[in-house]
Amino acid sequence: MIKRTKIVITLGPVTENPNMIESLIKNGVDVFRLNFSHGDHKTHENSIKMIRDASKKVKKEVAILQDISGPKVRIGEVEGVLKLKSGDSIKLVKKKDDNEKTTLALSYPNIIDMVNIDEHVFFADGTIQSIVTNKDENSLTLKILNEGELTSRKGVNFPKTELKISSITNKDIKDLEFGAKHKVDIVALSFVQSKSDVKEAKKILKQNGHKPFIVSKIEMGKAVENLKSILKASDGVMVARGDLGAEFGVTKLPRIQKKIIKKANSLNKPVIVATQMLTSMKENPFPTRAEVSDIANAIYDGTDAVMLSDETTVGNYPLEAVQVLVDTIKDVEKDYPYNKDFDPKDASEAISKSAVDLSKYLNKKALITFTSSGASAKSLSKFRPRSLIYANAHSLNVQRVMNLFWGVQPLFVLKNPHNPTSLLNDFIKKAHKAGFIQKDKDDEFVITMGSSTGKSGSTNLIRILRHDGIKEILS
Ligand code: PGA
Ligand code: MN
Repeated sequence: MIKRTKIVITLGPVTENPNMIESLIKNGVDVFRLNFSHGDHKTHENSIKMIRDASKKVKKEVAILQDISGPKVRIGEVEGVLKLKSGDSIKLVKKKDDNEKTTLALSYPNIIDMVNIDEHVFFADGTIQSIVTNKDENSLTLKILNEGELTSRKGVNFPKTELKISSITNKDIKDLEFGAKHKVDIVALSFVQSKSDVKEAKKILKQNGHKPFIVSKIEMGKAVENLKSILKASDGVMVARGDLGAEFGVTKLPRIQKKIIKKANSLNKPVIVATQMLTSMKENPFPTRAEVSDIANAIYDGTDAVMLSDETTVGNYPLEAVQVLVDTIKDVEKDYPYNKDFDPKDASEAISKSAVDLSKYLNKKALITFTSSGASAKSLSKFRPRSLIYANAHSLNVQRVMNLFWGVQPLFVLKNPHNPTSLLNDFIKKAHKAGFIQKDKDDEFVITMGSSTGKSGSTNLIRILRHDGIKEILS
């Protein structure tokens, strides 16, 4: 049985080797995430090579997602451990020039100017909360609201403050150049606040001659506020629950997660649910009930993909964790809410919806699509058909990107003959050879394609491929 929900895993010390990568692909990983908050370019270059080599060996061209670190705000050095209790007072300063343990520097000193009295400041993944009680030119005074401990370089969140810092740092620019050079398929942007952050990253990539699929990580209060415009400017989104939970407090996460998934689904932007999906499996070969439930509910809600981080970078059971995802996905997909009803937004969505309807009423084995940009595969996926979506791109990058789309099985990269009949014949011969289509079986298919194939957005044909048609082409 094939799974429709996609799996993204983060590569790290325990998985960065050829055998492991091969096993991960064989076991169902669709997208490998390289986290540019860790590791140098040499390590990442090596990982890219290993993933591309393993893909060839296993004959599945997975996608590479480059996760750009963005401007994570951190405190400076703390001597040892700073123990805090409710009611304590600490200071954030532009420049630390005293030896007070409760005076802390910030990785972006100018933020001091942007924060106002009565706004919240959270530390260490939101575990320590505080409120601004005083402000001057060079410092903020904070009242601590709960007990906790701070150590050097812990993260800081300003959930209500609009941080006027570019979401793209100098390191990010170098990383984007690296990504362009190595033709990564997907780029994820951290700490996006508005659509202009997305546009800036796209511009840099374009200057470097590359146009990857752009995923905005929703992990800041401002990003949730600007969700719709960020979605429109991006190709996809990630529910980045680590920092998002720190911004809002974890009890608000389920509601925000559902909201992001719903909006992403309706705008047809693939969505990844990330962070702490199987945290307990870092130490244990089995998940908790709650973790499996969380994964299942994200799938029922409509996520395209689920993601692992620490579980596969430093955990003891990376393969077991992937297996839990695979098994949970397969079980949920036994009674998934297929055939979602959206009003088509334009003619090509209407074609996709009709094709999905046909696949349902005629009980077809698969939808087949040919796509230049991936858009037509994505728009079939939007309606969540039970039939598989066999997608064929005309370029390898698009072929790989489609690994992120729910229900889409990228099959072949086909040369574009600009003639629907010969494209179809070519496909059927290949698919037959590879075992996706059988001559002596009654499988039938619904096909969408453009009459002048190869132009993005030109899909204007629905065809039903019957058994006698297949036989004729294969004879
Ligand atoms: P990170 O992003 O792992 O890069 O922090 C994901 C998250 O914040 O959940
Ligand atoms: Mn994050």
